[in-house]
Amino acid sequence: MTNRYDYLIVGSGLFGATFAWHAKRAGKRCVVIDKRPQLGGNLFCEKISGINVHKYGPHIFHTDNGDVWQLVNSIVPFNRFTNSPLANYQGRLYNLPFNMNTFHQMWGVLTPAEAKARIDQQRADVVARMRREGISEPRNLEEQAMLLIGRDIYERLIKGYTEKQWGRPCSELPAFIIKRLPVRFVFDNNYFNDRYQGIPVGGYNRLIDGLLEGVETRTGCDFFDLCRQSGVDPTAMTRYGVTLQGMHFDRVVYTGPIDEFFGYSSGHLAYRTVCFESETLDQANFQGNAVVNYTEREVPYTRIIEHKHFEMFGAEVDACPQTVISREFSAEWTPGHEPYYPVNDDHNSRLLAVYQERAAQLDNVIFGGRLAEYKYYDMAPIMEKVLAMPV
Ligand SMILES: Cc1cc2nc3c(=O)[nH]c(=O)nc-3n(C[C@H](O)[C@H](O)[C@H](O)COP(=O)(O)OP(=O)(O)OC[C@H]3O[C@@H](n4cnc5c(N)ncnc54)[C@H](O)[C@@H]3O)c2cc1C
Repeated sequence: MTNRYDYLIVGSGLFGATFAWHAKRAGKRCVVIDKRPQLGGNLFCEKISGINVHKYGPHIFHTDNGDVWQLVNSIVPFNRFTNSPLANYQGRLYNLPFNMNTFHQMWGVLTPAEAKARIDQQRADVVARMRREGISEPRNLEEQAMLLIGRDIYERLIKGYTEKQWGRPCSELPAFIIKRLPVRFVFDNNYFNDRYQGIPVGGYNRLIDGLLEGVETRTGCDFFDLCRQSGVDPTAMTRYGVTLQGMHFDRVVYTGPIDEFFGYSSGHLAYRTVCFESETLDQANFQGNAVVNYTEREVPYTRIIEHKHFEMFGAEVDACPQTVISREFSAEWTPGHEPYYPVNDDHNSRLLAVYQERAAQLDNVIFGGRLAEYKYYDMAPIMEKVLAMPV
């Protein structure tokens, strides 16, 4: 006998889990599968020495949308974590984002007027130099960044970090990557401007478990293996849905890579990836902050994450005798690595359009999330998008 479902949701990341929550509330039957051994996609946290380690990169939930904030807090309360990263350049620490603390650390200035005068002077020097060289528009990221913020901040806090992120000198990167650089003339180290931010108390797995409560899930289950085993070509799915291993699904929600869905038939989309080297240390507090960026080119990693600071505050930090840190390295994506950040250049945009055209012809497959849309999304916008979808 065939078991009937409304949706097969491929991927248990935030898109898939939110879709399952939304569909379940509308009375729909869903199965969520994930090829990884655990649920949660990139939000998954692994418990090490009593600390939730953000296995696929540090995640801080932030939003201006009161409805989304209320919804996630109704599933699991969020703590008061405020993202206030630091930058380490040649052994000196600077607050981020660029604000009066940064300017004081950089130049010793005490007032907004002094800081503005410094930045204006440095920008004027860059404009004058470009004029002498007959350049009217910034030709690359280096010129663009110096025009926006001046030489000192560019050289100490932007250049090396950006070159590590992209694997190329800033003078060879296009200017459009940096459209504007937020600068604050107040003493405020809060990275985000959103009204709400925090981390789920007890970690992100609790958010995912809450979204998926009452939904059938299977881990270690690859959609393409299921299709092969059932003799189904996913690219030829009809409006009658699909039957896989005795289960009939009216529709498929696919959150994996869009190029993989079509067997890479037109080529691979490119990604940047990040790799993590994690260590458990026999000390309670390594760097005193969740995120410290290393902005020199010569230090091979881009930042160090100390996971306990996302969820432990005050005396809790010392009460937990160990700490887990992750050094983050930026790299070109090759098959076998996690695809993280899409590369939105002309070649990849054209390739994406080819796949999107084919995807649009499959009425019963919804392509959603960062991999299926080949688009960087923060968590809250993913949820907003799903919650606005008809189910
Ligand atoms: C390093 C990093 C840091 C980030 N930090 C933040 C942050 O601080 N704040 C913020 O708001 N956002 C952050 N984000 C963005 C956040 O990760 C995304 O918004 C979110 O993960 C998107 O969820 P998703 O479901 O689209 O994708 P994913 O989480 O990638 O989920 C997709 C799932 O599909 C599964 N899958 C793929 N193919 C198949 C298949 N064939 N069969 C079965 N399962 C399959 C995968 O295993 C995966 O579990 C960050 C992203 C990165 C890369």
